[in-house]
Amino acid sequence: MNTTVNDDQLLDCFKRLKLRNMRDLLEGGKLEETLNGFDQPLEGLLDLVQKEVAARDETRRQRRLAQAKFPDEKALEDFEFEAQPSVNPTAIKQLSNLDFIPAAENVVFLGPPGIGKTHLAIALGLQAVNTGYSVRFITAEHLVDTLYQSLADNTFKRQLKRFGQYDCLIIDELGYLSLDRTASDHFFQVINQAYETQAVILTSNRPFQEWSGLFDDATVVSAILDRLLHHVHLFNMEGDSYRLKGLKENKLRGGDTTC
Ligand code: ADP
Ligand code: MG
Repeated sequence: MNTTVNDDQLLDCFKRLKLRNMRDLLEGGKLEETLNGFDQPLEGLLDLVQKEVAARDETRRQRRLAQAKFPDEKALEDFEFEAQPSVNPTAIKQLSNLDFIPAAENVVFLGPPGIGKTHLAIALGLQAVNTGYSVRFITAEHLVDTLYQSLADNTFKRQLKRFGQYDCLIIDELGYLSLDRTASDHFFQVINQAYETQAVILTSNRPFQEWSGLFDDATVVSAILDRLLHHVHLFNMEGDSYRLKGLKENKLRGGDTTC
């Protein structure tokens, strides 16, 4: 290091400014060498700060990713649209520009199990996380359980508000269980709170006509649908389960070889 510059002073500044990359270079004895690799001092400075900014962006992205609690990482690139003709690829592509998030619009995927509803919901959520939005993925069951539990220690309002703080709330698998009066009301409150302020992505294996069987009474169903569907991108999906399709094709291939 240049004799006129005291490493400790520099290190102290890097630490206080949380300049992790520069600190690592200095501690690894590589800072001066790195800077010497540039013709112009400003080029070197720009490179160092750009790396610092990139590292910080990645740390924030990792934090948002952990906060989103995705059960799996699914990407739009891995979705085979040929295998799911009931989904319009252009509509998904348009959604992937994420304008629906600041516009607080909703996305609803309906259809039988195994056809990619959760995959698409996660893929859009992941894109949102990568773009800088805060996202929370939760199953409908876990959502209502969490709110139920919050009644016990009087934290319902705080918990409800917490669900409203994400730019995008993904509620997966509505329809696998019926909600009693309290849970129906809690679910309504989540949707009502989100209305025109937060984007919601929802997946369900039950068509809307069957939702009256999911909730405690017809009034709450129409209140939920009213808000959910006001600004919605709706995907009515159909077809065979992707998993079973794979199995069937494997079996067929197995059959071919034994012939
Ligand atoms: P659903 O939520 O509709 O029950 P999932 O999204 O969980 O279905 O899909 C089941 C599995 O099949 C997942 O591993 C998912 O990634 C995969 N899958 C479903 N549809 C497709 C598709 N069109 N292209 C690629 N993978 C798919
Ligand atoms: Mg699913």
